Amino acid sequence: MKSKEKEATYNRREGLKMLGFGSATGLLGLFGGDAKAEAHHKNTPFYAKGMAPVKIKSVKAIATAPMGHNLIVVKVETTEPGLYGLGCATFTQRAEAVVVAVNSYLNDFCAGRDVDNIEDLWQSVYVSSYWRNGPVLNNALSGLDQALWDIKGKRANMPVYQMLGGKTRFAIPCYTHAGGNSPEQCADNVLKFMEQGFGHMRIQSGYPNTAAGKQADFKEAGYGYNGDGHMNEAAYLRSIPKMFEIVRKRCGEDIELLHDIHERVQPIGAINMIRQLEPYRPFFIEDPFPPESMSWFRQLRQSTTVPIAMGEIFNNPNEWKEAMVNQMFDYIRCHISQIGGITPGMKIARLGEWFNIKTAWHGPGDVSPVGHAANSHIDFAIWNLGIQEAVSFSDKMLEVFPGSPYVKKGYMYVNEAPGLGVDINEKLAANYPVKKGSNWQIRSNDGTIMRP
Ligand code: MG
Repeated sequence: MKSKEKEATYNRREGLKMLGFGSATGLLGLFGGDAKAEAHHKNTPFYAKGMAPVKIKSVKAIATAPMGHNLIVVKVETTEPGLYGLGCATFTQRAEAVVVAVNSYLNDFCAGRDVDNIEDLWQSVYVSSYWRNGPVLNNALSGLDQALWDIKGKRANMPVYQMLGGKTRFAIPCYTHAGGNSPEQCADNVLKFMEQGFGHMRIQSGYPNTAAGKQADFKEAGYGYNGDGHMNEAAYLRSIPKMFEIVRKRCGEDIELLHDIHERVQPIGAINMIRQLEPYRPFFIEDPFPPESMSWFRQLRQSTTVPIAMGEIFNNPNEWKEAMVNQMFDYIRCHISQIGGITPGMKIARLGEWFNIKTAWHGPGDVSPVGHAANSHIDFAIWNLGIQEAVSFSDKMLEVFPGSPYVKKGYMYVNEAPGLGVDINEKLAANYPVKKGSNWQIRSNDGTIMRP
Protein backbone atom coordinates (compact mmCIF):
# COMPACT_ATOMS: atom_id res chain seq x y z
CA MET A 1 0.00 0.00 0.00
CA LYS A 2 1.31 3.45 -0.88
CA SER A 3 1.98 5.62 2.16
CA LYS A 4 -0.81 8.13 1.32
CA GLU A 5 -3.37 5.31 0.94
CA LYS A 6 -2.14 3.81 4.23
CA GLU A 7 -2.66 7.14 5.92
CA ALA A 8 -6.23 7.44 4.55
CA THR A 9 -7.16 3.90 5.71
CA TYR A 10 -5.75 4.62 9.14
CA ASN A 11 -7.73 7.87 9.41
CA ARG A 12 -10.97 6.13 8.38
CA ARG A 13 -10.42 3.43 11.01
CA GLU A 14 -9.70 6.01 13.69
CA GLY A 15 -12.74 8.00 12.61
CA LEU A 16 -14.99 4.95 12.97
CA LYS A 17 -13.53 4.27 16.40
CA MET A 18 -14.31 7.81 17.45
CA LEU A 19 -17.91 7.34 16.33
CA GLY A 20 -18.19 4.27 18.50
CA PHE A 21 -18.19 1.73 15.62
CA GLY A 22 -14.73 0.45 16.49
CA SER A 23 -13.42 -1.61 19.39
CA ALA A 24 -14.60 -1.54 22.98
CA THR A 25 -11.68 0.73 23.79
CA GLY A 26 -13.05 3.13 21.16
CA LEU A 27 -16.39 3.22 22.95
CA LEU A 28 -14.70 3.70 26.31
CA GLY A 29 -12.66 6.50 24.77
CA LEU A 30 -15.87 8.26 23.70
CA PHE A 31 -17.49 8.06 27.12
CA GLY A 32 -14.22 9.01 28.78
CA GLY A 33 -14.25 12.17 26.66
CA ASP A 34 -17.83 12.91 27.72
CA ALA A 35 -16.91 12.56 31.36
CA LYS A 36 -14.04 15.01 30.86
CA ALA A 37 -16.40 17.47 29.14
CA GLU A 38 -18.93 17.09 31.94
CA ALA A 39 -16.26 17.76 34.54
CA HIS A 40 -15.27 20.90 32.62
CA HIS A 41 -18.89 22.14 32.69
CA LYS A 42 -19.05 21.59 36.45
CA ASN A 43 -15.89 23.64 36.92
CA THR A 44 -17.06 26.48 34.63
CA PRO A 45 -17.55 29.67 36.63
CA PHE A 46 -21.22 30.80 36.89
CA TYR A 47 -20.68 33.87 34.68
CA ALA A 48 -19.53 31.69 31.80
CA LYS A 49 -22.48 29.29 32.19
CA GLY A 50 -25.33 31.76 32.00
CA MET A 51 -27.43 33.03 34.83
CA ALA A 52 -28.96 31.26 37.80
CA PRO A 53 -32.52 30.09 37.06
CA VAL A 54 -35.40 32.41 37.94
CA LYS A 55 -38.96 31.11 38.27
CA ILE A 56 -42.29 32.65 37.39
CA LYS A 57 -44.13 33.68 40.56
CA SER A 58 -47.40 34.90 39.06
CA VAL A 59 -49.02 35.97 35.80
CA LYS A 60 -51.76 38.60 35.90
CA ALA A 61 -53.69 40.87 33.53
CA ILE A 62 -53.92 44.65 33.91
CA ALA A 63 -56.86 46.24 32.08
CA THR A 64 -56.79 49.95 31.29
CA ALA A 65 -58.11 52.42 28.72
CA PRO A 66 -56.27 55.77 29.02
CA MET A 67 -57.04 56.76 25.39
CA GLY A 68 -60.45 55.08 25.09
CA HIS A 69 -59.37 51.75 23.59
CA ASN A 70 -59.55 48.80 25.98
CA LEU A 71 -55.97 47.62 26.54
CA ILE A 72 -54.77 44.47 28.31
CA VAL A 73 -51.22 44.17 29.63
CA VAL A 74 -49.82 40.95 31.11
CA LYS A 75 -47.45 41.28 34.05
CA VAL A 76 -45.21 38.31 34.86
CA GLU A 77 -43.65 38.51 38.31
CA THR A 78 -40.63 36.38 39.17
CA THR A 79 -38.91 34.87 42.21
CA GLU A 80 -36.24 37.56 41.88
CA PRO A 81 -37.44 40.63 43.82
CA GLY A 82 -38.19 43.57 41.53
CA LEU A 83 -37.77 41.56 38.32
CA TYR A 84 -40.94 41.45 36.21
CA GLY A 85 -41.93 41.55 32.57
CA LEU A 86 -44.76 43.19 30.63
CA GLY A 87 -46.50 42.05 27.46
CA CYS A 88 -49.47 43.23 25.40
CA ALA A 89 -52.50 40.92 25.28
CA THR A 90 -54.92 43.47 23.87
CA PHE A 91 -58.17 42.32 22.31
CA THR A 92 -60.12 45.56 22.55
CA GLN A 93 -63.53 44.10 21.74
CA ARG A 94 -63.37 41.23 24.28
CA ALA A 95 -61.00 42.63 26.91
CA GLU A 96 -62.63 40.95 29.93
CA ALA A 97 -62.46 37.51 28.34
CA VAL A 98 -58.66 37.91 28.01
CA VAL A 99 -58.41 38.92 31.68
CA VAL A 100 -60.02 35.59 32.66
CA ALA A 101 -57.75 33.64 30.29
CA VAL A 102 -54.66 35.24 31.86
CA ASN A 103 -55.62 35.26 35.54
CA SER A 104 -57.28 31.86 35.68
CA TYR A 105 -55.44 29.71 33.17
CA LEU A 106 -52.01 31.22 32.44
CA ASN A 107 -51.26 31.95 36.08
CA ASP A 108 -51.98 28.37 37.13
CA PHE A 109 -50.07 26.94 34.18
CA CYS A 110 -46.96 29.10 34.46
CA ALA A 111 -46.32 29.58 38.19
CA GLY A 112 -43.10 27.78 39.15
CA ARG A 113 -41.76 27.50 35.57
CA ASP A 114 -38.34 28.78 34.49
CA VAL A 115 -38.62 32.30 32.97
CA ASP A 116 -35.82 31.60 30.51
CA ASN A 117 -37.39 28.80 28.47
CA ILE A 118 -39.58 31.00 26.28
CA GLU A 119 -39.92 28.59 23.36
CA ASP A 120 -40.88 25.67 25.61
CA LEU A 121 -43.40 27.75 27.55
CA TRP A 122 -44.84 29.06 24.29
CA GLN A 123 -45.19 25.57 22.80
CA SER A 124 -46.70 24.08 25.97
CA VAL A 125 -49.19 26.91 26.59
CA TYR A 126 -50.14 26.78 22.90
CA VAL A 127 -51.31 23.16 23.07
CA SER A 128 -52.31 23.07 26.74
CA SER A 129 -55.96 23.80 25.95
CA TYR A 130 -55.97 21.24 23.07
CA TRP A 131 -58.19 23.61 21.05
CA ARG A 132 -56.11 26.55 19.95
CA ASN A 133 -55.45 29.31 17.37
CA GLY A 134 -58.36 31.46 18.44
CA PRO A 135 -58.57 34.98 19.75
CA VAL A 136 -58.61 35.41 23.58
CA LEU A 137 -56.24 32.48 24.30
CA ASN A 138 -53.89 33.73 21.57
CA ASN A 139 -53.96 37.23 23.11
CA ALA A 140 -53.15 35.81 26.56
CA LEU A 141 -50.26 33.82 25.07
CA SER A 142 -49.00 36.95 23.26
CA GLY A 143 -48.90 38.85 26.53
CA LEU A 144 -47.01 36.06 28.27
CA ASP A 145 -44.52 35.72 25.42
CA GLN A 146 -43.74 39.44 25.25
CA ALA A 147 -43.38 39.62 29.04
CA LEU A 148 -40.88 36.73 29.00
CA TRP A 149 -38.81 38.51 26.31
CA ASP A 150 -38.97 41.65 28.46
CA ILE A 151 -37.63 39.65 31.44
CA LYS A 152 -34.91 38.01 29.34
CA GLY A 153 -33.76 41.43 28.15
CA LYS A 154 -33.71 42.76 31.70
CA ARG A 155 -31.71 39.73 32.86
CA ALA A 156 -29.21 40.17 30.03
CA ASN A 157 -29.16 43.96 30.48
CA MET A 158 -30.01 44.40 26.79
CA PRO A 159 -32.93 45.81 24.79
CA VAL A 160 -34.96 42.96 23.27
CA TYR A 161 -33.88 43.83 19.69
CA GLN A 162 -30.32 42.97 20.72
CA MET A 163 -31.43 39.50 21.75
CA LEU A 164 -33.13 39.09 18.35
CA GLY A 165 -29.91 39.84 16.48
CA GLY A 166 -29.31 43.57 16.85
CA LYS A 167 -30.30 46.56 14.71
CA THR A 168 -30.65 46.41 10.94
CA ARG A 169 -31.67 50.12 10.72
CA PHE A 170 -31.25 53.27 12.82
CA ALA A 171 -35.02 53.76 13.31
CA ILE A 172 -38.32 52.37 12.03
CA PRO A 173 -40.11 54.09 9.14
CA CYS A 174 -43.77 54.35 9.98
CA TYR A 175 -47.12 55.64 8.79
CA THR A 176 -50.11 56.99 10.57
CA HIS A 177 -53.71 57.76 9.60
CA ALA A 178 -55.05 60.77 7.73
CA GLY A 179 -58.81 60.89 7.40
CA GLY A 180 -61.54 63.34 6.65
CA ASN A 181 -65.16 63.62 5.65
CA SER A 182 -64.12 64.50 2.10
CA PRO A 183 -61.07 63.73 -0.09
CA GLU A 184 -60.12 67.43 0.11
CA GLN A 185 -60.13 67.33 3.93
CA CYS A 186 -58.12 64.12 3.80
CA ALA A 187 -55.55 65.81 1.50
CA ASP A 188 -55.27 68.76 3.94
CA ASN A 189 -54.48 66.31 6.74
CA VAL A 190 -51.90 64.47 4.62
CA LEU A 191 -50.13 67.82 3.98
CA LYS A 192 -50.03 68.49 7.75
CA PHE A 193 -48.40 65.12 8.41
CA MET A 194 -45.95 65.68 5.54
CA GLU A 195 -44.83 68.88 7.30
CA GLN A 196 -44.10 66.73 10.38
CA GLY A 197 -41.79 64.60 8.23
CA PHE A 198 -44.01 61.59 7.45
CA GLY A 199 -43.19 59.87 4.18
CA HIS A 200 -46.06 57.36 4.33
CA MET A 201 -49.72 57.97 5.09
CA ARG A 202 -52.85 55.81 5.26
CA ILE A 203 -55.77 57.67 3.72
CA GLN A 204 -59.42 56.96 4.51
CA SER A 205 -62.53 59.04 4.02
CA GLY A 206 -65.15 57.10 5.93
CA TYR A 207 -67.73 54.72 4.54
CA PRO A 208 -70.03 56.84 2.37
CA ASN A 209 -73.77 56.45 2.85
CA THR A 210 -76.32 56.30 0.06
CA ALA A 211 -76.96 60.03 0.22
CA ALA A 212 -75.40 62.55 2.59
CA GLY A 213 -77.57 63.16 5.64
CA LYS A 214 -79.96 60.28 4.86
CA GLN A 215 -80.39 57.64 7.53
CA ALA A 216 -79.85 54.00 6.57
CA ASP A 217 -83.05 52.15 5.65
CA PHE A 218 -82.44 49.50 8.31
CA LYS A 219 -82.14 52.21 10.97
CA GLU A 220 -85.40 53.84 9.87
CA ALA A 221 -87.01 50.40 10.08
CA GLY A 222 -85.69 49.92 13.63
CA TYR A 223 -83.60 46.89 12.60
CA GLY A 224 -80.24 45.93 14.15
CA TYR A 225 -78.48 47.47 17.16
CA ASN A 226 -78.05 51.08 18.18
CA GLY A 227 -74.29 51.10 17.63
CA ASP A 228 -74.40 49.52 14.15
CA GLY A 229 -72.47 51.29 11.43
CA HIS A 230 -73.75 51.65 7.87
CA MET A 231 -71.87 51.24 4.62
CA ASN A 232 -72.92 51.53 1.00
CA GLU A 233 -70.58 49.18 -0.83
CA ALA A 234 -71.02 50.63 -4.33
CA ALA A 235 -70.61 54.22 -3.12
CA TYR A 236 -67.50 53.22 -1.16
CA LEU A 237 -65.92 51.48 -4.15
CA ARG A 238 -66.55 54.55 -6.35
CA SER A 239 -65.21 56.96 -3.74
CA ILE A 240 -61.72 55.50 -3.17
CA PRO A 241 -60.21 56.03 -6.66
CA LYS A 242 -61.54 59.62 -6.49
CA MET A 243 -59.93 60.09 -3.07
CA PHE A 244 -56.59 58.80 -4.39
CA GLU A 245 -56.80 61.07 -7.44
CA ILE A 246 -57.45 64.19 -5.33
CA VAL A 247 -54.87 63.39 -2.64
CA ARG A 248 -52.16 62.47 -5.18
CA LYS A 249 -52.81 65.69 -7.13
CA ARG A 250 -52.79 67.92 -4.02
CA CYS A 251 -49.92 66.22 -2.14
CA GLY A 252 -47.57 65.34 -5.02
CA GLU A 253 -45.31 62.33 -5.53
CA ASP A 254 -43.21 62.68 -2.37
CA ILE A 255 -45.71 60.85 -0.17
CA GLU A 256 -46.45 57.12 -0.18
CA LEU A 257 -50.20 56.49 0.08
CA LEU A 258 -51.82 53.50 1.76
CA HIS A 259 -55.47 52.54 2.17
CA ASP A 260 -57.29 49.95 4.31
CA ILE A 261 -60.34 48.29 2.74
CA HIS A 262 -61.06 46.53 6.05
CA GLU A 263 -62.49 43.63 4.02
CA ARG A 264 -66.30 44.13 4.05
CA VAL A 265 -66.79 44.35 0.25
CA GLN A 266 -67.33 41.57 -2.28
CA PRO A 267 -63.93 40.26 -3.50
CA ILE A 268 -64.63 41.00 -7.17
CA GLY A 269 -65.61 44.56 -6.21
CA ALA A 270 -62.36 44.99 -4.29
CA ILE A 271 -60.34 43.69 -7.27
CA ASN A 272 -62.01 46.07 -9.73
CA MET A 273 -61.47 48.99 -7.36
CA ILE A 274 -57.79 48.19 -6.71
CA ARG A 275 -57.14 48.08 -10.49
CA GLN A 276 -58.46 51.63 -10.78
CA LEU A 277 -55.87 52.80 -8.21
CA GLU A 278 -52.87 51.89 -10.41
CA PRO A 279 -52.32 55.43 -11.82
CA TYR A 280 -51.98 56.80 -8.26
CA ARG A 281 -49.24 54.32 -7.28
CA PRO A 282 -50.45 53.10 -3.84
CA PHE A 283 -47.72 51.92 -1.45
CA PHE A 284 -50.11 49.14 -0.47
CA ILE A 285 -53.79 48.36 -0.18
CA GLU A 286 -54.65 46.64 3.06
CA ASP A 287 -56.96 43.72 3.85
CA PRO A 288 -58.88 43.42 0.57
CA PHE A 289 -60.67 40.18 1.54
CA PRO A 290 -61.86 38.55 4.77
CA PRO A 291 -59.80 35.49 5.85
CA GLU A 292 -62.66 33.26 4.63
CA SER A 293 -62.01 34.45 1.05
CA MET A 294 -58.27 33.78 0.77
CA SER A 295 -58.70 31.91 -2.54
CA TRP A 296 -59.54 35.24 -4.24
CA PHE A 297 -55.90 36.36 -3.90
CA ARG A 298 -55.00 34.32 -7.00
CA GLN A 299 -57.45 36.36 -9.10
CA LEU A 300 -56.28 39.61 -7.50
CA ARG A 301 -52.60 38.87 -8.28
CA GLN A 302 -53.45 38.07 -11.91
CA SER A 303 -55.45 41.29 -12.26
CA THR A 304 -53.13 43.97 -10.88
CA THR A 305 -49.61 44.71 -9.65
CA VAL A 306 -50.77 47.09 -6.89
CA PRO A 307 -48.93 45.96 -3.70
CA ILE A 308 -51.16 44.24 -1.15
CA ALA A 309 -50.98 43.98 2.65
CA MET A 310 -52.95 41.37 4.54
CA GLY A 311 -53.38 39.70 7.88
CA GLU A 312 -54.60 42.07 10.58
CA ILE A 313 -57.23 39.61 11.79
CA PHE A 314 -55.27 36.40 11.20
CA ASN A 315 -55.19 34.00 14.17
CA ASN A 316 -54.08 30.73 12.71
CA PRO A 317 -50.83 29.80 10.93
CA ASN A 318 -52.91 28.13 8.21
CA GLU A 319 -54.27 31.56 7.30
CA TRP A 320 -50.83 32.94 6.36
CA LYS A 321 -48.58 29.92 5.62
CA GLU A 322 -49.80 28.91 2.14
CA ALA A 323 -50.57 32.49 1.15
CA MET A 324 -47.02 33.62 2.00
CA VAL A 325 -45.16 30.82 0.24
CA ASN A 326 -47.36 31.42 -2.81
CA GLN A 327 -46.62 35.17 -2.67
CA MET A 328 -50.29 36.15 -2.56
CA PHE A 329 -49.50 39.49 -0.93
CA ASP A 330 -46.48 41.75 -0.42
CA TYR A 331 -46.82 42.72 3.25
CA ILE A 332 -47.84 40.55 6.20
CA ARG A 333 -49.47 42.68 8.86
CA CYS A 334 -50.46 40.45 11.76
CA HIS A 335 -51.38 41.83 15.16
CA ILE A 336 -48.37 40.64 17.21
CA SER A 337 -50.48 40.81 20.39
CA GLN A 338 -52.97 38.47 18.69
CA ILE A 339 -50.88 35.77 17.01
CA GLY A 340 -48.89 34.74 20.12
CA GLY A 341 -46.26 37.44 20.54
CA ILE A 342 -42.65 38.04 19.52
CA THR A 343 -41.80 34.33 19.17
CA PRO A 344 -44.24 33.61 16.28
CA GLY A 345 -43.74 37.16 14.95
CA MET A 346 -40.05 36.45 14.35
CA LYS A 347 -40.90 33.13 12.66
CA ILE A 348 -43.37 34.85 10.31
CA ALA A 349 -40.82 37.56 9.51
CA ARG A 350 -38.15 34.97 8.71
CA LEU A 351 -40.57 33.02 6.50
CA GLY A 352 -41.37 36.25 4.64
CA GLU A 353 -37.67 37.03 4.14
CA TRP A 354 -37.31 34.14 1.68
CA PHE A 355 -40.50 34.94 -0.23
CA ASN A 356 -40.02 38.70 -0.65
CA ILE A 357 -42.82 39.46 1.79
CA LYS A 358 -42.17 42.38 4.09
CA THR A 359 -43.77 43.12 7.44
CA ALA A 360 -46.25 45.85 8.37
CA TRP A 361 -47.41 44.85 11.86
CA HIS A 362 -50.78 46.06 13.08
CA GLY A 363 -50.15 49.16 15.22
CA PRO A 364 -53.06 51.58 15.74
CA GLY A 365 -54.63 52.65 19.05
CA ASP A 366 -55.88 49.18 19.95
CA VAL A 367 -52.31 48.08 20.69
CA SER A 368 -50.83 49.08 24.08
CA PRO A 369 -47.48 50.93 24.20
CA VAL A 370 -45.97 47.62 25.37
CA GLY A 371 -47.32 46.03 22.16
CA HIS A 372 -45.96 48.92 20.06
CA ALA A 373 -42.58 48.32 21.70
CA ALA A 374 -42.79 44.60 20.86
CA ASN A 375 -43.55 45.50 17.21
CA SER A 376 -40.61 47.91 17.18
CA HIS A 377 -38.06 45.51 18.66
CA ILE A 378 -38.93 42.98 15.94
CA ASP A 379 -38.80 45.76 13.32
CA PHE A 380 -35.29 46.72 14.39
CA ALA A 381 -33.98 43.17 14.20
CA ILE A 382 -35.45 41.81 10.95
CA TRP A 383 -34.14 42.50 7.47
CA ASN A 384 -37.53 42.50 5.73
CA LEU A 385 -39.34 45.29 7.57
CA GLY A 386 -41.78 47.00 5.21
CA ILE A 387 -43.33 49.74 7.31
CA GLN A 388 -44.78 50.12 10.80
CA GLU A 389 -48.24 51.46 11.61
CA ALA A 390 -47.91 54.00 14.43
CA VAL A 391 -49.94 56.28 16.67
CA SER A 392 -48.92 59.17 18.86
CA PHE A 393 -49.75 58.68 22.54
CA SER A 394 -51.61 61.21 24.70
CA ASP A 395 -50.07 62.57 27.93
CA LYS A 396 -52.41 60.33 29.94
CA MET A 397 -51.13 57.29 28.08
CA LEU A 398 -47.48 58.29 28.65
CA GLU A 399 -48.13 58.70 32.39
CA VAL A 400 -49.59 55.19 32.59
CA PHE A 401 -46.88 53.73 30.32
CA PRO A 402 -43.52 55.45 30.98
CA GLY A 403 -40.90 54.61 28.37
CA SER A 404 -43.33 54.24 25.43
CA PRO A 405 -41.93 54.29 21.89
CA TYR A 406 -42.17 57.65 20.11
CA VAL A 407 -42.35 58.96 16.56
CA LYS A 408 -40.13 61.71 15.14
CA LYS A 409 -40.07 62.85 11.48
CA GLY A 410 -41.85 59.70 10.33
CA TYR A 411 -39.59 57.29 12.24
CA MET A 412 -40.37 55.31 15.36
CA TYR A 413 -37.83 54.94 18.17
CA VAL A 414 -37.70 52.80 21.31
CA ASN A 415 -35.78 53.72 24.43
CA GLU A 416 -32.61 51.76 25.00
CA ALA A 417 -33.55 50.37 28.44
CA PRO A 418 -33.11 46.61 28.95
CA GLY A 419 -36.10 44.51 27.85
CA LEU A 420 -38.94 46.13 25.93
CA GLY A 421 -38.25 49.45 27.68
CA VAL A 422 -41.85 50.21 28.72
CA ASP A 423 -43.19 50.20 32.28
CA ILE A 424 -46.71 50.53 33.69
CA ASN A 425 -48.00 52.65 36.56
CA GLU A 426 -50.67 50.30 37.92
CA LYS A 427 -52.19 52.91 40.23
CA LEU A 428 -52.78 55.35 37.36
CA ALA A 429 -53.89 52.53 35.04
CA ALA A 430 -56.72 51.77 37.49
CA ASN A 431 -58.11 55.29 36.89
CA TYR A 432 -59.08 54.27 33.34
CA PRO A 433 -61.32 51.19 33.56
CA VAL A 434 -62.10 49.26 30.38
CA LYS A 435 -65.58 49.44 28.88
CA LYS A 436 -67.79 46.42 28.52
CA GLY A 437 -69.30 45.46 25.18
CA SER A 438 -66.94 47.15 22.78
CA ASN A 439 -68.42 45.92 19.49
CA TRP A 440 -67.80 46.87 15.87
CA GLN A 441 -70.32 45.77 13.28
CA ILE A 442 -71.38 47.38 10.02
CA ARG A 443 -74.50 46.69 7.94
CA SER A 444 -75.55 47.40 4.38
CA ASN A 445 -78.63 49.53 3.71
CA ASP A 446 -81.06 46.63 4.07
CA GLY A 447 -79.46 45.61 7.38
CA THR A 448 -77.30 42.70 6.20
CA ILE A 449 -74.11 42.32 8.28
CA MET A 450 -70.94 43.04 6.25
CA ARG A 451 -68.14 40.66 7.14
CA PRO A 452 -64.72 42.17 7.97
MG1 MG B 1 -56.26 47.62 9.27
